[in-house]
Amino acid sequence: MNIPFQPIGLSIDELRPEIDAAIARVLSSGWVLLGKELESFESEWAKYCGAAHAVGLSNGLDALHLILHAWGIGPGDEVIVPSNTYIASWIAVSQTGATPIPVEPDEATYTIEPNNIVKAITKRTKAIMPVHLYGHACDMDAICEIARSRGLKVIEDAAQCHGAKYKGKKIGAHGDAVAWSFYPTKNLGALGDAGAISTNDPVLAEKIKMLRNYGSKVRYVNEVIGYNNRLEELHAAVLRVKLQHLDDWNKRRTALAERYNSAFAESDLMLPVTRDWCEHAWHLYEIRHPKRDALREQLAKMNVGTLIHYPIPPHLQKAYSMLGYSEGAFPISERIHSTILSLPLSPHLSFTEQDYVIDCVKKALVAV
Ligand SMILES: *Cc1c(COP(=O)(O)O)cnc(C)c1O
Repeated sequence: MNIPFQPIGLSIDELRPEIDAAIARVLSSGWVLLGKELESFESEWAKYCGAAHAVGLSNGLDALHLILHAWGIGPGDEVIVPSNTYIASWIAVSQTGATPIPVEPDEATYTIEPNNIVKAITKRTKAIMPVHLYGHACDMDAICEIARSRGLKVIEDAAQCHGAKYKGKKIGAHGDAVAWSFYPTKNLGALGDAGAISTNDPVLAEKIKMLRNYGSKVRYVNEVIGYNNRLEELHAAVLRVKLQHLDDWNKRRTALAERYNSAFAESDLMLPVTRDWCEHAWHLYEIRHPKRDALREQLAKMNVGTLIHYPIPPHLQKAYSMLGYSEGAFPISERIHSTILSLPLSPHLSFTEQDYVIDCVKKALVAV
């Protein structure tokens, strides 16, 4: 057997007739930007994630950036971010001129630890950015309480948690604003780059609509210096199709994750932990092992594709050398990055294929 890590092609194949029809609809309309598909997707997405407003954007990074920019965050300000995240979370802060202030996670769930947030707050702190990493929701009540009592904003990076719930309520408007990515590999993925924000704040939603379109509400009238961060009609049309299958596909992910959990219950692997307040979206299934690289090599030999999310923590990236962090600055994060491994988990992985992966992991564990 040959198990690729992420078979994007299969996710297109399964919905091909519906996707073809959606694309044909856009082509026949003769309207490619800021039209009916976008408007419809925005209201469908807002409804799905339980927010009053959603605004479609070019990608997840731009969504994070526009929220921070709309709040006036910039040079001299600090935004608290997880020390373990995809670097986009940090880059969005840096793009405004503000400084990302890393905070260590809860090592069991890989989500930002509220107690560590409190210790990192200074006079310059303007916002907190929890990231619902791998599909596990952060402890939003604790984080929002810390923010509320100090007048800080909460911006959620929800690029990996489409459909996840916190205390029975979908991620979508627990914080002041939520940034979404619809990058092709995410639980809800477009056929290219796409993103959105969701929020209950009508003023923020309006402002972001203006910012995504050159700072203009009325054509050729520019109120502020904006950006070109629009979500195209073609992507919106395809996202509307895929949204109808999101819950079903998340259920398939959950079934696979539960099968991995029971198959590896007695192994040496460190397995994902789900808090009782979280309904996991299982964007990624993470195992940890001290001999991660050897394990990965063995699996590759047996044609099992794995990935590392992520090999280098942001604070040790060359891009962030100016912050002056060296090895040992964020030990929990560094430990995670050096031992974590993502196993194949997609709605298109069959139980038979998964059994092969499980078998290979068990063999590899003996070999390393
Ligand atoms: C994918 C991702 C992003 C960025 O999304 P893009 O659409 O690729 O810009 C941001 N944060 C996290 C945690 C992500 O996984």
